[in-house]
Amino acid sequence: MSSPTPLASSVDFAARIGATSAVATVVATDTISPTLRSVTLSHPDAVKLAGAPGQDIMIYVGEHDGHARRRRYSVRSVDPVAQELTLWIATTHEGPGAQWARDAAVGDSVDVIGPRGKIFLDEMADWHLFVGGTVALGAFYRMAESIDPPGRAVFVVELPDPADAVTPVLDEAITPTGIFIDRGDRVAGDPAGILSALAAFDFPPDEGHAYLFGEFSVVRAAQSALVDRGLAPEQISLKAFWRAGRDNADHGEPTKD
Ligand SMILES: Cc1cc2nc3c(=O)[nH]c(=O)nc-3n(C[C@H](O)[C@H](O)[C@H](O)COP(=O)(O)OP(=O)(O)OC[C@H]3O[C@@H](n4cnc5c(N)ncnc54)[C@H](O)[C@@H]3O)c2cc1C
Repeated sequence: MSSPTPLASSVDFAARIGATSAVATVVATDTISPTLRSVTLSHPDAVKLAGAPGQDIMIYVGEHDGHARRRRYSVRSVDPVAQELTLWIATTHEGPGAQWARDAAVGDSVDVIGPRGKIFLDEMADWHLFVGGTVALGAFYRMAESIDPPGRAVFVVELPDPADAVTPVLDEAITPTGIFIDRGDRVAGDPAGILSALAAFDFPPDEGHAYLFGEFSVVRAAQSALVDRGLAPEQISLKAFWRAGRDNADHGEPTKD
């Protein structure tokens, strides 16, 4: 039996960026928290598609308003034996990506391109500060699982629902510290919660690296706060995952204007 063929546009796009295009199969879904749903995909090249901790895959989520839409999701974990990768996806808003994740069912075929993304763990850092929102937990936890002790991991994450505070099992030798902030009545995109948590947090000694993944305005405000606190630009890796009040563009990125 021949393997299903990816969309021609996916093959072209993957070739341009040196990635792989494939048709994967949904093999499991689960509820992780009130906001997050996991979707596990199987493909003989799953390890290759998943790339390194911090990277993501791009999923074709269908035609909407006459446009082919793709959305990007960080890989939470990879099973090299089963050749499966798992994504953690926010599903409580309305959007083609959230809809795709809500509808995903075992046996579905999924057009994927991967790996994508250029932010990796800074192997030289003595501590790693992960700052962002629920959408970033998959990326943050996969990256933290790849830290070599005694590197430290600190998470500062704002949640729309306190029950989204899911935690991974991490090596105690990396002294994981989690600061979860309940967004409460603040609107999405208001950085006040993240900024006050960062202000109350003393950086560990030695050299660190901060990874800022989440809502556009929040990651920018966090970047400014960390620069004001003395982190050098090369100690900060930043990626806006979505933008309050605006749809991501068809290729999956939030608009920057
Ligand atoms: C590199 C990269 C990695 C990413 N990794 C992940 C990941 O691991 N998990 C994940 O869930 N997302 C991740 N995202 C974000 C995801 O691709 C976007 O949130 C995507 O825009 C959601 O698409 P959508 O079609 O559901 O909504 P869109 O069409 O983009 O937006 C529709 C509406 O919903 C709002 N909206 C979008 N996202 C949210 C949200 N999270 N909460 C509240 N309102 C929202 C928008 O402001 C807009 O008003 C990643 C994005 C990038 C660029």
